[in-house]
Formats: sequence, C-alpha cells, structure tokens
Amino acid sequence: MAAFKAIRIDKAEKGTTAALAQFDEAELMEGDVTVRVEWSTVNYKDGLAVTGKAPVVRRFPMIAGIDFAGTVEQSSHAAWKAGDKVVCTGWGMGETHLGAYAEKARVKGDWLVRLPDGLSAREAMAIGTAGFTAMLAILALEKHGITPQSGPVVVTGAAGGVGSVATAVLGKLGYHVIASTGRMSEAPYLKSLGAAEVIDRNELSVAPKPLARERWAGGVDSVGSTTLANLLSMTKYGGAIAACGLAAGMDLPSSVAPFILRGVCLLGIDSVMCPITPRKAAWERLARDLDRAKLAEITHEISLDQVIATGPKILGGQVRGRIVVKIP
Ligand code: NDP
Repeated sequence: MAAFKAIRIDKAEKGTTAALAQFDEAELMEGDVTVRVEWSTVNYKDGLAVTGKAPVVRRFPMIAGIDFAGTVEQSSHAAWKAGDKVVCTGWGMGETHLGAYAEKARVKGDWLVRLPDGLSAREAMAIGTAGFTAMLAILALEKHGITPQSGPVVVTGAAGGVGSVATAVLGKLGYHVIASTGRMSEAPYLKSLGAAEVIDRNELSVAPKPLARERWAGGVDSVGSTTLANLLSMTKYGGAIAACGLAAGMDLPSSVAPFILRGVCLLGIDSVMCPITPRKAAWERLARDLDRAKLAEITHEISLDQVIATGPKILGGQVRGRIVVKIP
C-alpha cells in the first residue's frame, strides 16, 4: 500500500485545515514498528486538533489522532513481530508525530502496549486516552490510600469520556460515586454506569470558599478551573483529588487552605508521557475492572469520514461517553 487514507492537518494562512486525504507511506515518520490501524477514537484533544481551536498540532503536515489499536505489520523492534495486537496512546501522536486517523502508523516499539487478554481492539479504543487517563487517576487515588471505606468520591464532567469511564470503574470497585454533570438529563445513564448520586455541575461552579463542608474523600476532575477549586475546598481531611483536565479552563482559583488545614492532596495526572510500566499496569486494571457491558453502553461508533464533524461536538460537551472510529 503506497498511499492510504488519513485525516490530514495542514497549516493555512489563518490557523489550520483538516481534510480526509490520501497520504503516502513514504511520508511516515521514523519508528521501528509499522502498524495496520484498525480502530481509533475521538478524545477532547482530537477535537482541538481537527478544529484548530488550540495549537495542539506542532508539525505540518500532520495526521491527527492520538490513539490507535491495530496489528503489527512490520517490526525491527525486539519486542514486536508481525501479527501482534497492540495499543498506542499519547506520546505526541497527532501532535508532533504522525497520528492515528490513518490506515497505517509508524511508531517506536517502546510506545506500544500489548492488547490485554480478553480485550478487543475496538474495546481498547472505546477506552482510549480518556479511559486510560481515568484509570491513571483512580490508581493515583489508590496509591494515596483512598478506598471505598474512606468515603464518597466525586467525578466531574461525568457524562464525558474520562468521567464515564471513571464512574463505571469506581462504581464497580464499590465506591459511593457522586457524579457531577451539566446534563441532568443524563442522570439515568450515570446511575446505570455506577453513580450513587448525580449532582448538577452548577453546584461546583460557584465562587469557591477557601474551605467548605467536607463532602468527599477523593475525586477525579476533568474540568479544572472553579470546579477544581470547589472540589478541593470540599475534600475531607487527608483526602485527594486527581486532576486531569481543563474542560472549563486552565486556571485554578484556589487557596492553600485545603492543603495546609486539611492535608488535602492535589494529584496531577498526565497520560501522554506516562512511562511504560504504569501504562501497562493501567491497561491490565482496565481489562479487569471495567465492566464490558457498561463499556459497550458508553460507546458509539463512527467512520473515519465523520471524525472532522465530531470535533466541534466534543469541544461543545455534546458527546456522551466514548466514540470509536472504524478505520477502513
Ligand atoms: P469530553 O468532552 O468527553 O468530556 C468533558 C466533559 O466535561 C463534558 O462532557 C462535560 O461533562 C464537562 N464539561 C465540558 N465543558 C464544561 C464546562 N465549561 N464546565 C464544566 N464542565 C464542562 O472530554 P474527555 O473526557 O475526553 O476529556 C476531559 C478533559 O480531560 C479535557 O480537558 C481533556 O483535555 C482532559 N484530558 C487530559 C488528559 C491527561 O493526560 N491529563 C488525557 C485525556 C483528557 P458533563 O456534560 O457531564 O458536565
């Protein structure tokens, strides 16, 4: 295959353009493993890349897409051979390295994780960076010592990708999950995933006090800004909030009060450059602790030619759960 279909981002006079185009295999970047991409997904960052709303793409031309699952076609890396089923998320794909919305990808073998036993390539992309990040956040809370006995946990942006997976996994692990959403019409969906309570996100977008009534022992926050400040001020003594997102903004209008008066911890979560050992551990836990029927419930499928139109929807908070992209 000399040429293949890909979503190509080019620099324009003003901003960038995105189009489904033919890409030549000879233009693929350096890497010791070539993969036939079978499934991808749409994350918030993919929305930013295809719409050009934020400068996440830093090389042109670029193939967008930060996650793929597929089958190794060629490898000169000792760990991989043709036919191996692999997952790749982050590492700058779709930002500085040609990405996943393509029939082929060439990457470093060190970036790849073997598809966990019992998980299909489609399910791995239903999880994708969003679900992987949710699991990294849960692992960080566990490392901090938080258990279902510690008290309730809050999940913000709960109807989104990170939030849906976090709600499903925490619910399965036996936590009392308080799901915060701007879409109260999604309350039945969130309860079916494992939320014990659903609250309106407006409760968490009021001007934050330095300290407020203690409501939860932990939390997974994909929203940032005032929401994260409120989460911290409402966290119980010794609790922790894992912060992974900025759906409402990058700022953090908080104070040191929760840290110095309640011993609360703010745990930073990054999925992109997460080292390979915790990466493998998170995928193994996802294979074990995420109910497949619930994963199917939060997933809907689109084709490669629908990705560009999906960009504004995910940025507008209109996507429920996770999207998988079938690569032709
Ligand atoms: P989604 O768009 O699927 O979910 C985000 C959710 O946030 C929305 O569904 C909505 O949930 C809520 N939301 C959106 N806008 C606002 C707003 N203005 N105020 C309050 N809540 C809002 O995105 P993802 O789940 O894929 O990603 C979530 C965030 O996490 C993004 O900021 C993304 O960049 C970040 N992220 C970070 C990673 C990392 O490595 N640190 C990796 C993956 C994602 P609802 O309707 O329920 O309120």
